[in-house]
Amino acid sequence: MDLRLSGKVVLVTAASKGLGKATAWQFAREGAKVVICARSELINQAAQEIASETHAEVLGLRADVTQQADIERVINATVEKFGGLDILVTNAGGPPAGTFADTDLGMWEAAVNLMLLSAVRLIKCALPYLKQSANPAILTITSNSTKQPVQNLVLSNSIRLGVIGLTKTLSQELGSDRIRVNSILPGWTYTQRVDELINARMAKTGQTKAAEIAQINANIPLGRMGTPEEFANVAVFLCSPAASFVNGVMLQVDGGLHSGTF
Ligand code: NAP
Repeated sequence: MDLRLSGKVVLVTAASKGLGKATAWQFAREGAKVVICARSELINQAAQEIASETHAEVLGLRADVTQQADIERVINATVEKFGGLDILVTNAGGPPAGTFADTDLGMWEAAVNLMLLSAVRLIKCALPYLKQSANPAILTITSNSTKQPVQNLVLSNSIRLGVIGLTKTLSQELGSDRIRVNSILPGWTYTQRVDELINARMAKTGQTKAAEIAQINANIPLGRMGTPEEFANVAVFLCSPAASFVNGVMLQVDGGLHSGTF
């Protein structure tokens, strides 16, 4: 199937590794022009890797999605380099692990800024350009935790529901501008973030890494975690003109982990 992404301009935030990087990479393979950002120097290495494999135009920028000035700089640089913006994928790092008892008010405020307000700021800054695109789309990356709380992740379990509400609301409000707005709810996908979460679990339970992984896999009908590439394939399709009538969908990519009917 032709996803019709050739020449489209795509911004994927928080993309020096993990789900964001894999998604940007897959867009580049489909012929899109890609902008990626993250806070550390690794972002330049990621841009080079993607460009050298795909021969796509890739712009890597150091930016923190919790900072309004950084977001404005990224959007401006995207439009300056590629002349517009067709697709926005809002991603951010995950919040620290912990229970309600472990988590103070400052951590709650920081997590709201990281997960919810970053998406609000990005979408506000990107909207004028998305409205000018022939095939605009927004994808928010949230979590399976919005369907079913994940043990020891109170911040993610709580605050990501705000991003779901934002996504669904915008899918209705922006329909008249032809902008499709969807979310992917990843389940366990093996990235550095997951490695860190497993380490946090090990510190609490005293179990080995193999035992923690086996316990997670046992709850997934497919019997394993996903790969970043499996996530990226779905993300890229959802954002592409090939999915032109898909709007307001909260799509689980979790190997069947969520067992509810809806
Ligand atoms: P990851 O491997 O830890 O990668 C996180 C990326 O975000 C890195 O590129 C990091 O680069 C960047 N980042 C973090 N904070 C940032 C900030 N303030 N501004 C800009 N970039 C920032 O994580 P992942 O597994 O790909 O997860 C991505 C998102 O999906 C997270 O929110 C995670 O909680 C969520 N999620 C993941 C899974 C999973 O199984 N992997 C499941 C459900 C939800 P820098 O550190 O250089 O900024």
